[in-house]
Amino acid sequence: MTSTTDETTATNRQMETFITPNNTIHADTICAISTAPGTGGIAVVRISGPQATEIADSIWHGSTPLATVRANTATFGRVADPDRPGETLDEAVATVFRAPRSFTGEDTVEISVHGSPFIQREMINLLIRRGCRLAEPGEFTRRAFASGKIDLAQAEAIADVIASDSRGAHRIALSQMRGQFSEKLAEMRSQLLDLASLLELELDFSEEDVEFADRSRLLEIARSLKSHVDTLAATFSTGDAIKRGVPVAIIGSPNVGKSSILNKLLGDNRALVSDIPGTTRDTVEDTADIEGITFRFIDTAGIRATDDPVENLGIERSFANIAKARILVWVVTATDLAGNDTTTLSHLHELRDEISRLKSPDTALILAVNKTDLLPTRDHPATLRAAERLGADTAIPLSTVTGENLPLLRHTLHAAATQGISSSANDIIVTNARHYEALRNASSSIDRVIASLTPGHPYPLPGDLIAQDVRETLHHLGTITGTITTPEILSTIFSRFCIGK
Ligand code: GDP
Repeated sequence: MTSTTDETTATNRQMETFITPNNTIHADTICAISTAPGTGGIAVVRISGPQATEIADSIWHGSTPLATVRANTATFGRVADPDRPGETLDEAVATVFRAPRSFTGEDTVEISVHGSPFIQREMINLLIRRGCRLAEPGEFTRRAFASGKIDLAQAEAIADVIASDSRGAHRIALSQMRGQFSEKLAEMRSQLLDLASLLELELDFSEEDVEFADRSRLLEIARSLKSHVDTLAATFSTGDAIKRGVPVAIIGSPNVGKSSILNKLLGDNRALVSDIPGTTRDTVEDTADIEGITFRFIDTAGIRATDDPVENLGIERSFANIAKARILVWVVTATDLAGNDTTTLSHLHELRDEISRLKSPDTALILAVNKTDLLPTRDHPATLRAAERLGADTAIPLSTVTGENLPLLRHTLHAAATQGISSSANDIIVTNARHYEALRNASSSIDRVIASLTPGHPYPLPGDLIAQDVRETLHHLGTITGTITTPEILSTIFSRFCIGK
């Protein structure tokens, strides 16, 4: 943590309701099952707090009491209710962690028992009778934060690591949990503190009417900070998509092969494939892992003029999906594209206009030119030229029958999803809406600092007034790591955790 007395005092002056939560000591001892609910090979019971060892010892029978075993080493024993000493509940393995060298920073005991729901329930009942309190969701992590073991961004990343279901989401969450984002923020906060101090120095010399700080140098620092903040904020849209699964809409006229392409990408045959135009009426959403990124596919009803009300409903949804998607795969057939049928071609151009109107400027448009197996040649320059006229970012001639270019389609999807972020593990990617909001707020505050420092500002502001905006920027960045936070923010964040984490 990088809070300084100076900074904290200034912030407290501005925002009295904010608290600095480090090094809180909890009087009570909490317990919970940390493994997933239900039956399992093993269940881990976690106990944390000042009486953790004492309470665990009251139900533990081993060669030595847990109070005297070596920390961080597993020890075998028996668990029994002190009121029924002869009756063993289970044979178990316990690990003792002593404060402050534990996850929570408190004395902690983890007991691995057999994962029967009965044993788990009995263990918790027993521990509660011996003086523990059942932990609230995320309370172990909240205590780790309160004792200064991790900051808030790292605590949130722990939840993301647990929830990650693709290599991409896991990599980002792990880097945040290990503190890379926090380090970057700490670096920026330290620069901001320097900036604030330099500006405030002017105050001390104000009687002499001296502009002490070199304002062009200060402006340079402010601009560089703004660029760092904005670069981080700009990664959010990609980061968020990677965390939740990148939404992809597969669109196009009926019967062009949308379901077939989706099935190939999913690797099974879940969506209905049929020769009857308009069969795929409903929006089918499914996920696939492609090169470590989760994609959410939205297979849509074929877009064509129809009187069928059910089909029309599907078509309306297709258009709505265009706006929701981050990547559009527009499927046309190679024969339609290569042919000279003016009605077909004019329909394709109408569709293109509709897509351009509905899609957001950031949405990638991939034109999948399907059914190349029906063309007399595998050489596709004419097809690609025709595709280019339809204005897609990328055109891929492919066939779900021969499998031509399906790997290229997968690769193109991956590239479109990760555009703008590097594959380097050191790159920081923002995935949390709360962090994004704080970065945006920080960006606006630093904008005001830049405006005030820029030569030609209508009325030169005194350093201490500019320093206020610098302090506000510090405040916003501080909310990310939790240097500055409120009990409400903490409750909202930790209530989303599972019990036992
Ligand atoms: P959708 O209505 O756009 O979802 O199209 P479908 O995926 O249901 O496919 C319509 C028809 O085209 C089916 O008979 C598929 O077997 C056929 N089809 C799909 N892909 C190809 C392809 O690459 N080549 C050929 N020849 N037929 C295909």
